[in-house]
Amino acid sequence: MPSQGIVIGANDSDSDISIDLEQTSRPRGKGKGKANDKKKADKGKSKAKEQAYTWEASFTRSWDTVQEDEAGSLQTSVEDLMARGRRRRLLAPASAIRRTIIRHLVLILDLSSAMMDRDMRPTRFDLMLQYAREFIAEWFDQNPLGQIGVVGMRAGLGERIGEMSGNPQEVLKSIADRHKLEPTGEPSLQNAIEMARGSMSHLPTHSSREILLIFGSLTTCDPGNIHDTLNACVKDKIRISLVAIAAEMKICRELCEQTGGQFGVAMNEGHFKDLLFELVPPPAQRAMTRSVGGGAGGTNPAADLMMMGFPTRLPDSSPLSLCVCHSEMKSQGFLCPRCKSKVCDVPTDCDICGLMIVSSPHLARSYHHLFPVSPYDAV
Ligand SMILES: [Zn+2]
Ligand SMILES: [Zn+2]
Repeated sequence: MPSQGIVIGANDSDSDISIDLEQTSRPRGKGKGKANDKKKADKGKSKAKEQAYTWEASFTRSWDTVQEDEAGSLQTSVEDLMARGRRRRLLAPASAIRRTIIRHLVLILDLSSAMMDRDMRPTRFDLMLQYAREFIAEWFDQNPLGQIGVVGMRAGLGERIGEMSGNPQEVLKSIADRHKLEPTGEPSLQNAIEMARGSMSHLPTHSSREILLIFGSLTTCDPGNIHDTLNACVKDKIRISLVAIAAEMKICRELCEQTGGQFGVAMNEGHFKDLLFELVPPPAQRAMTRSVGGGAGGTNPAADLMMMGFPTRLPDSSPLSLCVCHSEMKSQGFLCPRCKSKVCDVPTDCDICGLMIVSSPHLARSYHHLFPVSPYDAV
């Protein structure tokens, strides 16, 4: 039955007829439809194929932006995307900006039950831990003079997970065991921020105080007025940045905007990682002073000198002695140049005399943020 029209059309050389027959035969061949409605139906169908819902108009399919090359490979597209990302990174820091290279960051992880959602694979919680580890490694690589502490939010409390430390291994160890961090209960933004603020209150003014929040919940369970906490953070010059996994909350955006931090909502796994890694380079100091409110002292603080010591490294064969940081008998370590006490790791602050002890490669490494390499000319 369906082949009949086609056979006739093929025999007849008249083009008009063959087109007509072809059109009538098409819906019949699929076993549905009347000849009268065929045009309407076809039109409707093709339109429906392009756009089933209006929201699809603004929705670009990620697989449409990727084009295969002649050989059918995606290699060139992937390379193009990567090159574009690299170029964007190079274009950003063109001139020298005053930045804070001695950084102190408290990473606040949401450990509420909302983190068990599976909208990000495998779960928000597992993904967050994985990215947090990568973030910490990258952060210390770029900011060897910095220190990170970790605070968790769960069951309505702030929970200290890792003390402020300049040793990446120590920080990574604090979030290594996922069973200790099992999500439960409601998060409390205020409790966690207050805890982070407390651990940074003693820091000197030349170092930055930053909070990075990863927030997957849509609620917060606070004991008091969170705006008081926000004002206290502004006063203490603490910069809050927040990466939301679920959706934007007004208080979250306010926390970031008033303290001069960055706010972002992760759309997917890749975007989540991008948002986190945008916070790896040290923040420009200009933005921070502006957010403070432009008071007499806050406009542009004069650069002041700070004292640093370059330690003497003890050889592994040196006699055993106690270190001042852990009170352990060890042969290797570093000697403070001022008080000659022994510390295990640099960079650190000497526990005895308070001198900041750094090694010169660390200092040099931090310097490239202040004097960025000019972008290469593409040839
Ligand atoms: Zn020690
Ligand atoms: Zn010392």
